Amino acid sequence: MPPLQPLLWAPQAWIDQGHGGQWHTGVVLHVGSDGHWSAIQPGVAVPPADARVLAGPVLPGLVNAHSHAFQRAFAGLAERREGEADDFWSWRDRMYRVALRISPAQLQAVAAELYSELLRGGYTQVCEFHYLQHQPDGSPYADPLALSWALADAAQATGIGLTMLPVLYQRAGFAQATLREDQRRFATTPAAVWHARQALQQARRPLLNAGIAVHSLRAASRKSIAELQRLSEGMDDGPLHIHIAEQTQEVDDCRAANGARPIEWLCREFTLDARWQLVHATHALPSEIEAVARSGAGVVICPSTEGNLGDGFADLPSWLGAGVPMSIGSDSHVTRAWPEELRWLEYGQRLLKRQRNVAAAPVEGHPATASRLFDAALAGGAAAAGFASWGLEVGARADLLVLDPQDSALLGLPPERTLDALVFSSPCDAVREVYVAGRRVVHERRHWQHEALHTGFDSAMQALWAPADA
Ligand code: ZN
Repeated sequence: MPPLQPLLWAPQAWIDQGHGGQWHTGVVLHVGSDGHWSAIQPGVAVPPADARVLAGPVLPGLVNAHSHAFQRAFAGLAERREGEADDFWSWRDRMYRVALRISPAQLQAVAAELYSELLRGGYTQVCEFHYLQHQPDGSPYADPLALSWALADAAQATGIGLTMLPVLYQRAGFAQATLREDQRRFATTPAAVWHARQALQQARRPLLNAGIAVHSLRAASRKSIAELQRLSEGMDDGPLHIHIAEQTQEVDDCRAANGARPIEWLCREFTLDARWQLVHATHALPSEIEAVARSGAGVVICPSTEGNLGDGFADLPSWLGAGVPMSIGSDSHVTRAWPEELRWLEYGQRLLKRQRNVAAAPVEGHPATASRLFDAALAGGAAAAGFASWGLEVGARADLLVLDPQDSALLGLPPERTLDALVFSSPCDAVREVYVAGRRVVHERRHWQHEALHTGFDSAMQALWAPADA
């Protein structure tokens, strides 16, 4: 691992002092021996003699709140229509072909390459919604958590923070009692999920924490979700994620089975709180948004994947207006940089509403679209990963991104427009350095293990996509 840097100085840094982030100049950043910020002091014009001087404006890293790492192996390979129609469900059948064959070693290699890409894309923490548990024939590995440890090893090798979310997955649909044959690697029970969470959390590995997840309302019964909630009652240091309303068909099926829409039903049947994270809160009525806002739960939006899969648009202005914590995730990893996710999120709304700067709220003091979305994702991401503090604040982990002001997308712009250009002037390759827990894991736009990760990924992909299967 690169060495810990105890003292840094940034010419500008994005600091939130309670009213949204702002650029501060001349910022001294002290890193404690635990890899968290021990002091942050703006307004220091001359760098201290023993500080490492950062060569550009500094942003906090973001949490990538929703990831299925194995799907990285599939990016670019589902962009041809095989039949008359192609939608989420036909995509899923093809995605299962990867899910059914990937080995622990291949998963580790794919995830390690992905995590280095996510670091380059400005994320310093990733939440793994992990449902791939068993051997290809459906029987457990000798160590039932073999695939979880493959992901943890990949994260450790790259230096990204990881929130593992073992997933409750029990049935193929609202009206089915069991899984489909091609879902045999996913089978879990509430007890197994809780046991996995405890084992991962208690391993006390650096940069690893764990919460739990329910795949979806279609994949787990009310009784099972209640049992998992009971087991996790005292869990105050981990989140609880669920895929909630990605597809209109899922909404229709939920209404047919339960007489209510997914978010409506979840809020009615369970007591939600700030640990709950509703992933793909895509199809929601105003009354459902109000119910989530009252509960304190957050939502996770995955713009590039939702676009790729033709899911539909989340009601972004209503979620933001209701003050619901919001984070972003790259999910299937067709996009691996947060500026592109935020751009897609806003452009979707502009196309839908035929308006500009939809996410901005000048009356509330947030005229800039990019910074409103960034601040929302920064705060919402912390909740999604189960962190009490995050960003450039004392006590939070010492993560940051150093931007290159000489990148052509930023060149010559007033410094206060940096975030606007990072999101809305593309292509932009301005993330030059990335620090996690006080250690520089990306330097001059390259991950410190770039070559080894690349080689491992290449071999895994060659093995996964042998010519007979292409
Ligand atoms: Zn997902």
